[in-house]
Amino acid sequence: MPLNIGVLALQGDFQEHRAVLEKLGAHVTEVRLPHQLEGLDGLVIPGGESTSIVKLANRYDFPDALRRFVDEGGAVWGTCAGMIVMASKLVEPELEPFSLMDITVSRNSFGRQVDSFETDIPMDGIEGGPVHAVFIRAPSVQEQGEGVECIAKLDDGTPVAVRSGKLMATAFHPELTPDTRVHELFLRLTAGELSPA
Ligand code: GLN
Repeated sequence: MPLNIGVLALQGDFQEHRAVLEKLGAHVTEVRLPHQLEGLDGLVIPGGESTSIVKLANRYDFPDALRRFVDEGGAVWGTCAGMIVMASKLVEPELEPFSLMDITVSRNSFGRQVDSFETDIPMDGIEGGPVHAVFIRAPSVQEQGEGVECIAKLDDGTPVAVRSGKLMATAFHPELTPDTRVHELFLRLTAGELSPA
């Protein structure tokens, strides 16, 4: 049976995620209303503009449904804006994230000069060498709660990928590279094939 994976399709690069997940054999649903979370094994919250995603998600009553989905054992992976949306707290106070994961996140953490960059980083749980990571006006993790594990960091030690149980967040965009290993990691996490973080 293929895994049922939803991609939150309110705003952002959900189509790129969908293409990779389908290539890996998942059954993918574009989620635009909370009832579409029913029956899903996992959900991807894509990159895009976190302000727009939060605004639209609030309008359609997603926050409670998302927290219920997590409480009931659904896996969630946020990339970039998706990481911001999943956070419990943001350094910049103007946006209220959905508290799916116990992390404090800084939006646009890398400032203007280096607002976009690419680098190769090793990632826990991924074999075969580092992942090519694309950062676009990327956030970073400033604080991690108990039970949240850093699974990738930059050379200067900044955490850019974290995991806690069936939750995962990456500051970069694996859906924009041909390398499918981070999506495979999420499918393994969703299937319960990874030991608890
Ligand atoms: N910094 C952006 C935001 O606040 C996220 C950018 C991205 O997803 N590439 O939404």
